[in-house]
Amino acid sequence: MSSRKVRVRFAPSPTGTLHIGGVRTALYNYLFAHHHQGEFILRIEDTDQTRFVPGAEDYIMESLRWLGIEPSESPLHGGPHAPYRQSERKPLYRKYVDQLLDSGHAYYAFDTPEELDEMRQRLSAAKVASPQYNAITRHNMKNSLTLADDEVKRKLDNNEPYVVRIKLPRQEEVRFFDNIRGWIVVHTQNMDDKVLFKSDGMPTYHMANVVDDYLMQITHVIRGEEWLPSAPLHVLLYRYLGWEEQMPQFAHLPLILKPDGNGKLSKRDGDRLGFPVAPLDWKDPHTGDTTSGYREKGYFPEAVLNFLALLGWNPGTQQELFSLDELVQAFSLERVSKAGAKFDFEKAKWVNQQYLWKQSNDQLANDFGKLLQSAGIAFEPQKLPRIVALVKERSYFVNDFLTQAAFFFNDPTQYDEAILAKRWNEQSAGILSGWKNSLAATEPFLAADIELASKTYLEQAGIPIGQVLQLFRVMITGAAAGPGMFEICELLGKETVIKRLENGISHQSK
Ligand code: GLU
Repeated sequence: MSSRKVRVRFAPSPTGTLHIGGVRTALYNYLFAHHHQGEFILRIEDTDQTRFVPGAEDYIMESLRWLGIEPSESPLHGGPHAPYRQSERKPLYRKYVDQLLDSGHAYYAFDTPEELDEMRQRLSAAKVASPQYNAITRHNMKNSLTLADDEVKRKLDNNEPYVVRIKLPRQEEVRFFDNIRGWIVVHTQNMDDKVLFKSDGMPTYHMANVVDDYLMQITHVIRGEEWLPSAPLHVLLYRYLGWEEQMPQFAHLPLILKPDGNGKLSKRDGDRLGFPVAPLDWKDPHTGDTTSGYREKGYFPEAVLNFLALLGWNPGTQQELFSLDELVQAFSLERVSKAGAKFDFEKAKWVNQQYLWKQSNDQLANDFGKLLQSAGIAFEPQKLPRIVALVKERSYFVNDFLTQAAFFFNDPTQYDEAILAKRWNEQSAGILSGWKNSLAATEPFLAADIELASKTYLEQAGIPIGQVLQLFRVMITGAAAGPGMFEICELLGKETVIKRLENGISHQSK
């Protein structure tokens, strides 16, 4: 690694929600920066104003904040290379475009959209596989390479719309080293003269991206695989601008794949299979389309970071649970794989469950209390830590407590009929009534007392507890299985237990 201080950037375009693939890119940049005591920067790439979506930038910032991977330089935090929003850097780029024009590495092109279309059709008709504006075809087009100098000048003076294109050599190998993929070699005959700048004064992604990485002294470009095809062009831009010495190292991250089948994980897969593909809920202001987020589904941010970190990177050990600090320590680009990583929703839930179990009962009770409050369910706060302790074993999310613990707050409205059909017989009503009476006489009404009273009663009546406990549970909770029955009774209180037994018996006796 070079001796420069590590500086990496996450450079999203604010065009809507942030896909979890983008979140993983941000995370790997964060981990890499902190591992090397470097800086993690957020740069907003909004040069394509047609794709701008209001609220998208705030969404990105809020996502990073929720996850706890905030940048040290950004539009919000400022920094030595401000502004960090490309639209605000507009005046900066022209100079570098002029440099490329002067050195003959770029040229003006005046072709209209119709003329470009015509060219593509002509080439398609001639069976050219991928018609492009390149070292061969540019000779038949309207540009500063084919037009006379005074004609070009006249067009520019008349403010005719133009673009500036890079002038690629016809046959040259572009080589660069990718930290994940090794050496990459691309021939310029497979590349086209990409547009770098438009007459409205806006650079395109390629130009702005390279100029800003250079000016912001970025040392490593860590981004998604979909940008790999752009990298050779970027390498040439560094060369033509005389910045090869400062060129960042590249690392193109593998795709996150659908859990089933092949191909990139999409929002549609999430909708189809019922899991979020975005960090936070989002509503597109133009289309009204909604996307659900991990935060609102009840995920802990630490769990999201943990499972995302493992999608494409592995620590080389069996360890699966990592705090952010541990990830920072363990992370390296060498252990990022080339192959796409299949998204595994069960694993994501499992990771969240591990984080749930790590929380103290008091903390969980606090979160659960807020949920109950907003659902308008009355509860006794001092009982919540014990309720949570009983139901967390079967829960993945704090939200699950609402269903897992529902019977603590409401009498059952339904009973597990399959169990009743199997277990209920002529003696059941009598046994349960007797049991109820012995509980009515139990004082104090604590789990151990309830257990003792129940066992004593059943022993005297000569009934093995295994034969009736499930019936008792269904009467009290509605369900055939759940946490320890005697503790449940203590938390419900005597009055409720008696009432539910009475209700259950009369339900069956109807
Ligand atoms: N603006 C690009 C994006 O939306 C950035 C790609 C890069 O990191 O160079 O992902």
